Amino acid sequence: MIHHVHIAGAGIAGLFMALCLQQQGVAFTLYEQSPDISYNEVGLGLSSNVFPILDKLGLLASTRLLGDDILHFRFADKQLEPVKEFALHAPALSINRKQFHQLLYRHLDKSNLKLNTRFPLSHTVGSNEIIIGADGIHSAIRGRMYSGIPIRSSGQVLWRGIACMPLPEEFKQSYFDIIGGNMRFAIVHIRGNHYSWYAITEGSTDKVIVPSAAARQMLMKLFSHYHPVVNMIIHATDNIYCNYLQDIKPSDRRVPWFQDNTVLMGDAIHPATPNLANGACLAIEDAFVLSRLMQQHIGGSFDSIFSQYQQLREEKVNRIVQQSWYLGKLMHQPNRMLDKAMIMGTRLTPAFLFKKIYAPVLHTGYKSLMSAEVI
Ligand SMILES: Cc1cc2nc3c(=O)[nH]c(=O)nc-3n(C[C@H](O)[C@H](O)[C@H](O)COP(=O)(O)OP(=O)(O)OC[C@H]3O[C@@H](n4cnc5c(N)ncnc54)[C@H](O)[C@@H]3O)c2cc1C
Repeated sequence: MIHHVHIAGAGIAGLFMALCLQQQGVAFTLYEQSPDISYNEVGLGLSSNVFPILDKLGLLASTRLLGDDILHFRFADKQLEPVKEFALHAPALSINRKQFHQLLYRHLDKSNLKLNTRFPLSHTVGSNEIIIGADGIHSAIRGRMYSGIPIRSSGQVLWRGIACMPLPEEFKQSYFDIIGGNMRFAIVHIRGNHYSWYAITEGSTDKVIVPSAAARQMLMKLFSHYHPVVNMIIHATDNIYCNYLQDIKPSDRRVPWFQDNTVLMGDAIHPATPNLANGACLAIEDAFVLSRLMQQHIGGSFDSIFSQYQQLREEKVNRIVQQSWYLGKLMHQPNRMLDKAMIMGTRLTPAFLFKKIYAPVLHTGYKSLMSAEVI
């Protein structure tokens, strides 16, 4: 019988785990090292496979208010000339990430939350208590279980922000990806005149902290030969954030995701580069699957619950991690011939192939858990 769950980290993984347990009436403590539950003012894409989970938690309608459906993927060249367009047969949702974290926070029972508190690694818990490592890519809990799992560096830096400005109609409800020239600039509609954007450039430092003004100046210079819309959108952005893109290669973490009473989830065990915009969605699915298995096998051993969880999740997350990685590499071609070939390949990609590439994102291997009711 599980008496208490300790969750280390209140990112999307930890927050969703907490909300699932709260709904099930399971006692938990959520530890977050930061002084508040928040996130930078950036965009977040949610694929439609997580909508039923949001719905079960009573969050879908309020999440929809934070953005709009994405109906089209449009690839274009530097001058915004269309390269290829695909319709999304299962529209995704594009939202403001900061507002999403605020929404999750509002739904959380604060009496179970310990802010400004790093989960104490030396913490000993009772035999009926579980520790969940939801502490992100540099997880200390993973480090305690397995030292030496290497982080894979992509050699790419992603710059992003949200701008408010009117754009032509074709940008509405669209994911607009400007490709070619070993760089990438994407504009994603959120709602009204709000657009999130990101630029991917080459880079090699582990921690990139650049003040917004300097980032703006650097990016406007870098993209000065692009269509004026690109510079206008960078110029209209108050806060620009950057992330160095990294993940863990699935073959470097062929290990159980659990040990004794401790289990890992989200980026703590399967970080992905954001080329499929799906790491947060994987974390939401992890939380749902793990919490439901805990509920269904309430008297079962931790080993059997955790191994079923890993079994249900591993194949999908490995596919997304690898596909995101290869997509990131494919879209950035330093060699001019290969760059031209990549653009030509995108132009010639038939709709059925695009659907096939996107299919693993939508795949869920936990249908029976979906139909089970919360007791
Ligand atoms: C540039 C970029 C864009 C992205 N865009 C998308 C997107 O559009 N859609 C999508 O689905 N995914 C996206 N992702 C992926 C997504 O952001 C991550 O997969 C997701 O945030 C992982 O959530 P997490 O909770 O596992 O980890 P994190 O978000 O890293 O959260 C971990 C939390 O644990 C806390 N913590 C760490 N150590 C401790 C400790 N010892 N004690 C207590 N607290 C601790 C941290 O402060 C943090 O709050 C993107 C990622 C990047 C880098």
